[in-house]
Amino acid sequence: MPKPKVNEELCIGCGTCEALCPKTFKVENGKSKVIAESCEDCDCSEVVSSCPVNAISLES
Ligand code: SF4
Repeated sequence: MPKPKVNEELCIGCGTCEALCPKTFKVENGKSKVIAESCEDCDCSEVVSSCPVNAISLES
Protein backbone atom coordinates (compact mmCIF):
# COMPACT_ATOMS: atom_id res chain seq x y z
CA MET A 1 0.00 0.00 0.00
CA PRO A 2 1.32 3.47 -0.81
CA LYS A 3 2.13 5.87 1.98
CA PRO A 4 1.12 9.45 1.24
CA LYS A 5 3.31 12.32 2.26
CA VAL A 6 2.40 16.02 2.57
CA ASN A 7 4.88 18.75 1.72
CA GLU A 8 4.04 21.26 4.45
CA GLU A 9 5.86 24.04 2.63
CA LEU A 10 3.31 23.79 -0.18
CA CYS A 11 0.14 22.87 1.73
CA ILE A 12 -2.36 25.72 2.08
CA GLY A 13 -4.69 23.83 4.43
CA CYS A 14 -7.64 23.79 2.05
CA GLY A 15 -9.01 20.56 3.54
CA THR A 16 -9.65 18.76 0.26
CA CYS A 17 -7.53 15.78 1.21
CA GLU A 18 -9.23 15.43 4.59
CA ALA A 19 -12.66 15.67 2.96
CA LEU A 20 -11.78 12.94 0.47
CA CYS A 21 -9.86 10.72 2.83
CA PRO A 22 -10.51 11.54 6.49
CA LYS A 23 -8.89 8.33 7.71
CA THR A 24 -5.59 9.33 6.19
CA PHE A 25 -5.37 13.13 6.37
CA LYS A 26 -6.09 15.62 9.13
CA VAL A 27 -5.74 19.38 8.76
CA GLU A 28 -4.40 21.03 11.90
CA ASN A 29 -3.21 24.62 12.26
CA GLY A 30 -3.62 25.18 8.54
CA LYS A 31 -1.49 22.24 7.45
CA SER A 32 -2.46 18.71 6.49
CA LYS A 33 -0.91 15.82 8.37
CA VAL A 34 -0.88 12.16 7.39
CA ILE A 35 -2.43 10.26 10.28
CA ALA A 36 -2.43 6.76 8.76
CA GLU A 37 0.52 4.48 8.12
CA SER A 38 -0.79 3.73 4.67
CA CYS A 39 -3.93 4.33 2.67
CA GLU A 40 -6.19 1.35 3.11
CA ASP A 41 -9.22 2.22 1.06
CA CYS A 42 -7.76 3.29 -2.27
CA ASP A 43 -4.46 4.05 -3.97
CA CYS A 44 -4.64 7.76 -3.08
CA SER A 45 -4.41 8.83 -6.71
CA GLU A 46 -7.63 10.84 -6.50
CA VAL A 47 -6.40 12.72 -3.44
CA VAL A 48 -3.00 13.33 -5.00
CA SER A 49 -4.54 14.80 -8.14
CA SER A 50 -7.13 16.82 -6.17
CA CYS A 51 -4.62 18.79 -4.11
CA PRO A 52 -4.59 22.28 -5.66
CA VAL A 53 -0.92 22.89 -4.92
CA ASN A 54 0.41 19.38 -5.60
CA ALA A 55 1.60 19.01 -2.01
CA ILE A 56 0.82 15.28 -1.74
CA SER A 57 3.16 12.62 -3.00
CA LEU A 58 3.21 8.86 -2.55
CA GLU A 59 5.98 6.68 -1.22
CA SER A 60 5.72 2.98 -1.86
S1 SF4 B 1 -5.43 19.06 -0.46
FE1 SF4 B 1 -3.25 19.74 -0.50
S2 SF4 B 1 -3.30 21.93 0.06
FE2 SF4 B 1 -5.30 21.05 0.62
S3 SF4 B 1 -5.03 20.51 2.82
FE3 SF4 B 1 -4.54 18.66 1.58
S4 SF4 B 1 -2.30 18.72 1.26
FE4 SF4 B 1 -2.95 20.78 1.94
